[in-house]
Amino acid sequence: MAAVPGAIVVFDLDDTLFSTADRHLRILAEYAALVESKDARAAGLLRSIQREKLRYSILDTAKDHGLEEKLAKDLKDFWFARFFKNPYLLEDSIVPGGPEYAEEVIRRGGRPFYMTGRDEGMREGTEASLLRHKFPDPDGKKATLVLKPRFDTPDFSFKNEALGKMREIGTVAGSFENEPAHVNMFIEHFPKGKHFLLETKHSGRPVALHPGCLKIKDFRR
Ligand SMILES: [Mg+2]
Repeated sequence: MAAVPGAIVVFDLDDTLFSTADRHLRILAEYAALVESKDARAAGLLRSIQREKLRYSILDTAKDHGLEEKLAKDLKDFWFARFFKNPYLLEDSIVPGGPEYAEEVIRRGGRPFYMTGRDEGMREGTEASLLRHKFPDPDGKKATLVLKPRFDTPDFSFKNEALGKMREIGTVAGSFENEPAHVNMFIEHFPKGKHFLLETKHSGRPVALHPGCLKIKDFRR
């Protein structure tokens, strides 16, 4: 891919280049510490959650582990107040092979674009996290970071609009996403590109995946 000089390769971040599992686990551990004194059983239960048992939604994770409903709702609020905050972004680990792959895009003359549902308020943590894990610098020259101007814009409409504008910048030769609906959107905008679904986890919206979509588990080859 990216054999055409200047061709753009778009990478989603959460559950595509980054695994959010450790961010989830840190928030669960903090919540367990908070409820420890009044509900030791719930705290123990929260601490017992294994990373491979994490669901996309923290509510589903809580329900799967038998956390009572009232506490699960309270956990959801606690999670929401933290999951999108800069210091927590630094907890993320990478999906294997991502940094090397993004570097290779540059070596072959392509341009990586990080296009994410994270918003401008998360720029600081996002840039720090990318650099920490040795992804190409999102300085606008090596790579470009595209964030949502507003937190409350739905990811789909933000990306749909951003991809429309992308045509003026160049050709999208390929993309990587964990949301099936987003992969379909990339295929619609740039049918000649190669578009990949990361089989990590996604929001669970029932979507028929476009037959032209390619599937991978990570970026290792
Ligand atoms: Mg994602």
